[in-house]
Amino acid sequence: MRASGGAVARLLAFAVIGVCVAEGLNVSSVPERWTYWSNDEIAEYANLLASENPARCRAASIGKSAKGQDILVLSATTKPGVFLNAGMDVSGTPSFLYIGNMHGNEPLGRQLMVYMAEELCASPGKAPVANPAIRRILSSGVVHLLFTLNPDGFDLRRRENANGVDLNRNFPDAILGSGNMTLLGTEEPESLAIAGFASRLGSSLVGASLLHEGALVVNYPLDGAASGSRRQREPNPSRDDALYRYLAQRYIDVQPELQSNEEFPGGKIQGSMWYPVYGGLQDYLYRKHNVYTTTVEMNDQKWPPEAQLGALWRQHRASMYAFLDAYLCQGITVKVKRGPDDLRVVEVAMVTEEMGRLMVFSGSLGYINGDPQGDSLLTVHYPVPPGEYDLQVNWVDRGDTSSVGDRQLLHVKVEANSRTTVIAERPAPVVFSDPLPPLPPNAVDEPDLPAADSPSSNGDIGAEPPRNNLVVPGDRRPGLETTQENEMGTRGDGVISEGMRSKAMLLEKISWRRSQRANEIQQASYVSTGLMIVLFVAIVVLAALRSKKSRDPAQREGRRKTPSSHVNLV
Ligand SMILES: [Zn+2]
Repeated sequence: MRASGGAVARLLAFAVIGVCVAEGLNVSSVPERWTYWSNDEIAEYANLLASENPARCRAASIGKSAKGQDILVLSATTKPGVFLNAGMDVSGTPSFLYIGNMHGNEPLGRQLMVYMAEELCASPGKAPVANPAIRRILSSGVVHLLFTLNPDGFDLRRRENANGVDLNRNFPDAILGSGNMTLLGTEEPESLAIAGFASRLGSSLVGASLLHEGALVVNYPLDGAASGSRRQREPNPSRDDALYRYLAQRYIDVQPELQSNEEFPGGKIQGSMWYPVYGGLQDYLYRKHNVYTTTVEMNDQKWPPEAQLGALWRQHRASMYAFLDAYLCQGITVKVKRGPDDLRVVEVAMVTEEMGRLMVFSGSLGYINGDPQGDSLLTVHYPVPPGEYDLQVNWVDRGDTSSVGDRQLLHVKVEANSRTTVIAERPAPVVFSDPLPPLPPNAVDEPDLPAADSPSSNGDIGAEPPRNNLVVPGDRRPGLETTQENEMGTRGDGVISEGMRSKAMLLEKISWRRSQRANEIQQASYVSTGLMIVLFVAIVVLAALRSKKSRDPAQREGRRKTPSSHVNLV
């Protein structure tokens, strides 16, 4: 370990001559800007930046290496409310993570991140960030810089960690594990550190990029071949292949060296078409944590000479910021409102093919050392290019996976260089202001009710049933607020409002028709009872008259006398 005083002096001097000058720091030695900094030097510089700019930058260890070195992350943003006293609340904003030096003998990315950290954090005091592109990024989300995932490997100047393990083969693999992505607990400490960090960031972690060396190309999932082959090159695009190709292109578009590389025409390649990798971090972050992860191979030669560091920073600087802009400043942000006692599982799905994954949430909202209180906004961000997209939000009762639940459909338009934010809220239930009159007991089993939404069905009933006792909250267009209100959202909103309204009207018509039929049935029963009484009286009178005639002797005699006439009477 080097003397910290000398390191700090060098770091302070570095800060002074940087692109964004940190005022008020003392300089005591000549800086060595274009050199590979040690683990301690990077850690001290990151802590210095954080202490000088506590409102904008935060440095924290996310775990230890096999030899006990801190694995440090510097986080930067100007969004208010992210940095809490106890930690970080990233639940409401997208974030992006650069991961360097996973292979110990590939230190270029970690050193370029030092220069990026200086620009993100070293504006003087509380002054606004000078560069407008950086100001836009920091005001849109959180940038996490993990300088070295393998500090022991760097010290040993070798690919593997101190235990001799290649960390980029050390993660659960969906293909080899038949879909099981659960950590075994036998992973290396560096692997567990990054897996835990991704888990704590939750849905806020939209993207990540692993910075390697040994080629010049942008590599994207899937790394593993579907067949499990270790040698054969074969295509195995992910379900978000179009989104990945767009994101990779954002890095390539501003770097002529990538565009003109003859080894990889176009500058990018899907992993298994290059060489299959299993147990890698890229596929793990994507398939386990829904993080749109790429790998940038930054230079053909590993550990390039220090004399090339300046040129390599100029080569990659615009690309590294283009990635941040693509992930944090462009696309669709879906914010789902939910209360602290809401037990429903929320599913947010991008319906447009190849442009994003289904995200399922049952409780975790992406807090880091934070304690969610009150109503919360669950945030999902899709870093998609300009265009029109269909999304869907489902609220499903916990434990009832077969239930469709309440649903909101969203049609979202994304303009160039902009982010569209949509707020999704579970549709409110229908509310009746007054109780409906009770049903007559003999009208419960109403047969053959015509469909209530058919206008012709009202013909045999009369006028429309009254609606003045019904309140339909859908009239206020619930659950959709957007920055582009005139251009989107009416589809999903309309579906829900009309659906709720027609359902309420159906209920009311059923009740009203049942009472009408009951009155008709009752009147009919009165009439039939009266007719039966009249008929009964008539029968009794006729019977009495007949009995009287049969007892009359004169009539009996006459019958005998003139039987023929009486025969006709009977
Ligand atoms: Zn590597």
